[in-house]
Amino acid sequence: MSNFLKVPSLDRLSHELSKLPGIGAKTAERLALSFIKKSYDEVELFREALQDVKTLVKECTNCFSYTEESEFCSYCSQDQRRQHPFVCVVKSPTDIGKIESSGVFSGTYHVLQGCIAPLDGVGPEDIKLQELVQRVRKRKVTDYPIKEIIVALDADLEGETTALYLKELLEEEGVSATRLAHGVPMGSYIDYVDQRTLGKALENRIKI
Ligand SMILES: [Zn+2]
Repeated sequence: MSNFLKVPSLDRLSHELSKLPGIGAKTAERLALSFIKKSYDEVELFREALQDVKTLVKECTNCFSYTEESEFCSYCSQDQRRQHPFVCVVKSPTDIGKIESSGVFSGTYHVLQGCIAPLDGVGPEDIKLQELVQRVRKRKVTDYPIKEIIVALDADLEGETTALYLKELLEEEGVSATRLAHGVPMGSYIDYVDQRTLGKALENRIKI
């Protein structure tokens, strides 16, 4: 545990904060100190927000993004989107907002909740790949089958590995898979690509 002020409650808060993604020890210490200056009401609002995220948020049963009250997320709650022939596969729910802002995609999403990363011990069974196959199969027997899966994953090793794995899975299901065209630079993250580039990359997607 960090031990920066030798004040047990501050050190404990700082230790918990340092476990958050992207928060280093120094930032955690600064954040912990900032709580001392907050009013009780502000701290209470913070505590409530944390608790609500944990108790209210659940996965959308269709795309595995997040939702609160209903079974479906805001995108899947529209029938025409849920039944759209195109499904865009993303790593994280935050990628959805990015693709939406490009304005060129009106289909539905599937959130993998991660990518295959053997070095970190993340295998195909640890992400929502089988759930995608199940979705494809379920839709096959309806009036609105899935016609194309657009793979919109980061252009890094994990994204590439996952895209190839997906391609094989989808070939077995007889569904065509495309990926974003170049314009998304190698080694880059979807989250950091500007809207126009991402829009172009979607329009010019290529077969995997
Ligand atoms: Zn959804």
